[in-house]
Amino acid sequence: MKTIGYAAQSAESPLAPFEFTRRELRADDVAIDILYCGVCHSDLHTTRNDWGNAVYPAVPGHEIVGRVTAVGPAVTRYQPGEVVAVGCLVDSCGHCDQCRHDLENYCREGWTGTYNGKDRVTGENTLGGYARQIVVKEHFVLRVPEGLDIAKVGPLLCAGITTYSPMRHWGVGPGSRVGVVGLGGLGHMAVKFGAALGAHVTVFSRSPGKEKDAFDLGADAVLISSDEAAMAAAANSFDFIIDTVPVKHDINPYLPLLDYHGTLVLVGQIGNLDEPHTFPLVFGRRAVAGSLIGGIAETQEMLDFCGRKGIVPEVEMIRMDQINEAYERMERSDVHYRFVIDMASLEPA
Ligand code: NAP
Ligand code: ZN
Repeated sequence: MKTIGYAAQSAESPLAPFEFTRRELRADDVAIDILYCGVCHSDLHTTRNDWGNAVYPAVPGHEIVGRVTAVGPAVTRYQPGEVVAVGCLVDSCGHCDQCRHDLENYCREGWTGTYNGKDRVTGENTLGGYARQIVVKEHFVLRVPEGLDIAKVGPLLCAGITTYSPMRHWGVGPGSRVGVVGLGGLGHMAVKFGAALGAHVTVFSRSPGKEKDAFDLGADAVLISSDEAAMAAAANSFDFIIDTVPVKHDINPYLPLLDYHGTLVLVGQIGNLDEPHTFPLVFGRRAVAGSLIGGIAETQEMLDFCGRKGIVPEVEMIRMDQINEAYERMERSDVHYRFVIDMASLEPA
């Protein structure tokens, strides 16, 4: 089917209207009219080719909420008219040990991204959610719990699961001492989940103006990362720190803040780090780890958790034609705390 979206034609060009074709429904496919799509910092990294692997034209967007319009003959779980969601993954090999354990996000053969991925049947570059329609394999389509505001659900599909999954993996729960580095899209969801899981949550921010917001989101404390005395006083006081900073930065100031056996999980910056000091790691068995989004079953678990607890992101709704301005604001850390595109604003070409 013919559709319209917004694409970047190169790393230097802004996003602009773009017509393209979605594949015909395969037996296990769901066709979705996109209602809303969240704006992730990864969209900006891909648009600008920050990771050196971008394929153009690039249509970003992996925080998708929409309505089912048609299903292939083998689809059993969804029907036209239902509101559904799609996140960062649209396919994986399905048979490796990771896929068999619901960890499609760590598929040994490489998972297929919602955008900038390689379609497993045609080999074509996948195009994401800044568009009117999308066609996705049923296994990668998620149910949206009743009662959540569908205009706000999109960011759960990436910012939500990327922070929820490591918290669950490292056992964050009542009494856990959690630190969140960087209060942006991912960071604000980490605060909400930490609070909902019963943890004591501290936000590390470079931005003094964000303190009130941090408390409103559920944080118990805020540390301005440039305040050396406050950082020193926080030594040995965290079980788990999640670092969402999108650019190369020094993680060494955070390592002594972990208590013995604590873990700092990197989810933001992808690439080289400054060398970590090994003294706090060795003396105290502290760890530095990474984590990538989450599998489909855990993403559904996270959505259902949000449904039960009434958790949604803080969003600023934008029109599709405001996307380039939104990217500029994201680069300045001026996001409160996730942009969501109202796809009704996407004009026909
Ligand atoms: P975002 O909304 O732009 O938030 C990033 C936050 O990091 C900013 O609000 C800012 O918080 C802080 N920050 C920004 N620039 C900084 C700098 N130069 N030095 C120190 N702190 C800085 O971005 P996001 O959407 O949350 O994404 C964050 C990163 O996670 C991106 O790199 C994205 O690609 C990545 N990501 C990874 C996964 C995964 O699976 N691992 C999934 C999704 C996204 P303060 O103002 O509070 O300091
Ligand atoms: Zn994302």
